[in-house]
Amino acid sequence: MDIKVTLNPNPKAKPTDTSALGFGQIFTDHMFRWTWNSEEGWHNPRIVPFENLSIHPASTVLHYGSEIFEGLKAYRRADGKVQMFRPIENIRRMNNSAERLCLPQMPEEDLMQALVEFVRLEQDWTPSDKGTSLYLRPFMFGNDESLGVHAVHNAEFIIIASPVGSYYKEGLNPVKIMIEDQDVRAVRGGTGYAKCGGNYAASNRAGERAEQQGYSQVLWLDGVERKYIEEVGAMNVMFKINGEIVTPKLTGSILPGITRKSCIEFLKSEGIEVSERLLSVEELAQAMTDGTLEEAWGCGTAAVISPIGELCYKDHKYIINNNEIGELSQHLYDSITGIQWGEVEDKFGWIVEV
Ligand SMILES: *Cc1c(COP(=O)(O)O)cnc(C)c1O
Repeated sequence: MDIKVTLNPNPKAKPTDTSALGFGQIFTDHMFRWTWNSEEGWHNPRIVPFENLSIHPASTVLHYGSEIFEGLKAYRRADGKVQMFRPIENIRRMNNSAERLCLPQMPEEDLMQALVEFVRLEQDWTPSDKGTSLYLRPFMFGNDESLGVHAVHNAEFIIIASPVGSYYKEGLNPVKIMIEDQDVRAVRGGTGYAKCGGNYAASNRAGERAEQQGYSQVLWLDGVERKYIEEVGAMNVMFKINGEIVTPKLTGSILPGITRKSCIEFLKSEGIEVSERLLSVEELAQAMTDGTLEEAWGCGTAAVISPIGELCYKDHKYIINNNEIGELSQHLYDSITGIQWGEVEDKFGWIVEV
């Protein structure tokens, strides 16, 4: 694939104070764009100066929510080189999301080339302070200029990048999570396994309610029986119950996280099995009552590992592991971020240097 590059004639000054970066607030000088229509397929791959988009007011995405996205990071190693973590997994997941929403799929090699060439061009934006990274946001939307409801004939794929600060400024602080038993995020047969904007729109109300009560995220139950644990906010979730590591199995309504997969594969390499099974909220509540819930943590690209210190269910508050990070959570965090930052040997072939 031949990617045409138009350099930004007015590059911005790069941020010097990485402690003020936050998440997704400033963007690099360029973006990658790729256009699709049903006659020509994918065409005109290009890197252009970062700018606002101009779309028709009837564009499909604005009315019917045809949108999918990915999130991954590029990390600066101590030797100055920049590397990505398991980008092929994001590429494959994006194609699965596209299939679910009737958006066009992309050849894996072309998408990998786009990621590598784009990150190579923007690599000076990758901060080097501990915990920082260059967050990459590939996304795609349906862009037909008509109000008819059908699979789209026009789509745009774009990659933007944003230098992001450390998720943890003062060590891995455990978070407070509320178990949501009213709203549901997704149902089997729906779009739960696809990374699409609509899932987020549907989860905002519960998230807001939890925040008003002092909780940082909600823990979702399954959409059919509201009985089985699914995931927490925009992270997958894992528990250590009486020595057993448990994570909800992928039933179709749960997002198949790459951090989740990496935790499972990493633990397996150390001889520790993870049970991917149904876990009911009653079983979890019982484990919290009798003290057999040893650790709980969320896992996702943004935080990597996010220890859970308190869970609230039907007005009962349960404190987990004295509201401290557990041994296994800490070990997973150190090991996986170690590979991401190039401090720990990558025995798995997860790293792609740009
Ligand atoms: C992206 C996402 C995750 C985590 O996936 P990672 O690939 O580990 O970043 C979990 N749940 C939801 C709903 C997500 O959107």
